[in-house]
Amino acid sequence: MRIGIIGAGLGGLLCGAELSKTHDVTIYERLPFIGGRFTNIPYKGFQITTGALHMIPHGNDGYLAQALKNIGSNVKIVNAEPEGYFRLNGKNHIYKDLFKTVTTKEKLNALKLAANLKFGRVDKNISFGEFLEGCPTALLVGNSFTGWALSLNAYETPMSEILEIQKLHSKFGGPGIPIGGCKGVIDSLVEIINKNNGKILLNHEVSKIEIEENKGYIDSKEFDIIISNASPTETEKMSNINFIQKKPVPSKGIKVNVATKSNMVNGASVIFTADSERINGLNQPSNVDKSLAKEGHNLIMLHATQLKSNTKSEIDIVLEDIENLFIDKDYEILSIQSYNNGWPVNHASNGTDLNPIIKDNFFLVGDGVKGVGGIEVEGVAMSAIKVLEHIKTVNFKIN
Ligand SMILES: Cc1cc2nc3c(=O)[nH]c(=O)nc-3n(C[C@H](O)[C@H](O)[C@H](O)COP(=O)(O)OP(=O)(O)OC[C@H]3O[C@@H](n4cnc5c(N)ncnc54)[C@H](O)[C@@H]3O)c2cc1C
Repeated sequence: MRIGIIGAGLGGLLCGAELSKTHDVTIYERLPFIGGRFTNIPYKGFQITTGALHMIPHGNDGYLAQALKNIGSNVKIVNAEPEGYFRLNGKNHIYKDLFKTVTTKEKLNALKLAANLKFGRVDKNISFGEFLEGCPTALLVGNSFTGWALSLNAYETPMSEILEIQKLHSKFGGPGIPIGGCKGVIDSLVEIINKNNGKILLNHEVSKIEIEENKGYIDSKEFDIIISNASPTETEKMSNINFIQKKPVPSKGIKVNVATKSNMVNGASVIFTADSERINGLNQPSNVDKSLAKEGHNLIMLHATQLKSNTKSEIDIVLEDIENLFIDKDYEILSIQSYNNGWPVNHASNGTDLNPIIKDNFFLVGDGVKGVGGIEVEGVAMSAIKVLEHIKTVNFKIN
C-alpha cells in the first residue's frame, strides 16, 4: 500500500519505520529537521532539545521501549535508580522517606491515600489535587510530579489519568534516558526508514488532506492510507472531514537548560522540586551520556508548568527558583525555552486526548491522541501501536 504520513515527529517516525518494512511510505515534514519536539539541538557544546527533557517516562520497559524493540531499533535506554528524589525544605528525599518528614496525622492520611490509590478506591471524576487535599506535603509532591510529567498542576489533572498512570508505573516502572538523548531514538528510526527505502521529505508543509472511501490525497498525491502526526486541530483544518467533537486542551511549559560543574542528581533520576514556586523538577541527562554536555560540565534540564498566560513573568518566577536551587551559584543558563500555542508540551493535555482512529484509511498519531495514562512519549507510542494494529487488522481483512 502507499502510505502518506504528515509530520516526522516521534509519532510519524514510529509508524513510518514499522510500515516501511512492507509498504511504500512517504513522510512529509514542514521543518528542515527530523524529530519534531523530540530531538537534539547542539548548542555551545551541549545537546539541548527541541522539546523533551531527554527522558522516556517508563524507561527501558514501557510502551515506547517495546515499540522501538519491535520495530528493530537498537537504541539503549538507561533506567533511573532510584526513580526520583523529592525536594522539600531544601533537602532531597526518596519516596519512602517522605513519610518521615510529616506529622503523624498527615502520615496516617497519606498512608490512607496511598492505599486508596493502589486499590483504585477513588472517585474518578475528581482532580488529583482534590484527592490530595488534607495532605499538604502530598499535594506539593503530587503537584511537582504532574508538573514535570504532564505539564499540568495537580488540580488540572484528572484522577482517571492518575489511576492509569499508577497501573502503568506498577507494570513498567519509572523513567530512563536514551543514549544520544532524544536524537538517539530519532536516528535509530530514521535509519530503519532509510534502509526500507521510505522517503522523508523535509521543508514540505502539507496544506490539504482529502479523504475518500478507499483512498486519500495529500496535496493532490494519492495514498491508500494517510496518517497525520500534526495536531488534531491542525489536521482537521487541513482535511475535508470534521472529526473533533471536543477540542483538546494543550499543556504549556517552560524549560531551562543549565550548565554546571557541580553534580545535582545521580544517574537518570529526577529531582521533583516540590519546594520551588514554579519549577517542578530537574534532571541531569549528561550522567547517562557524557556527550550531551561540554567536557567537564553537566547538562541540567529544569521544567516548569506554565500556569499563567504572561510568559515573561512566568520566566521571572522560574529564574528566581533557579537562584534558590543552585546555592553555590556555580551555574550558567544556556537557554530558556517556552512551549505554547503551535509548539506546546502536549497538543492534548492528559484527559483531553482524542481517538487516533478516524477512518480505516485516516489516522492521527502523536501527543494529541495519547492513550489513557500515557505520559508524553509513552502516550505517543500508545497511539502509534493502536494505529499500527488497526492498519494490520484492516489490511488483513482486505487481503
Ligand atoms: C518542554 C518539554 C519537555 C518535554 N519533556 C519530555 C520528556 O522528558 N519525556 C517525554 O516523554 N516527553 C516529553 N515531552 C513531550 C514530547 O516532546 C512530545 O510528547 C513528543 O515529542 C510529541 O511527538 P509527536 O510526534 O506527537 O509531535 P511532534 O514532535 O510535534 O511532531 C509532529 C511533526 O509534524 C510536523 N508537522 C505539523 N504540521 C505539519 C504539516 N502541515 N506538514 C508537514 N509537517 C507538519 C511538525 O513540524 C513536527 O515535526 C516534552 C515536551 C516539551 C515541550
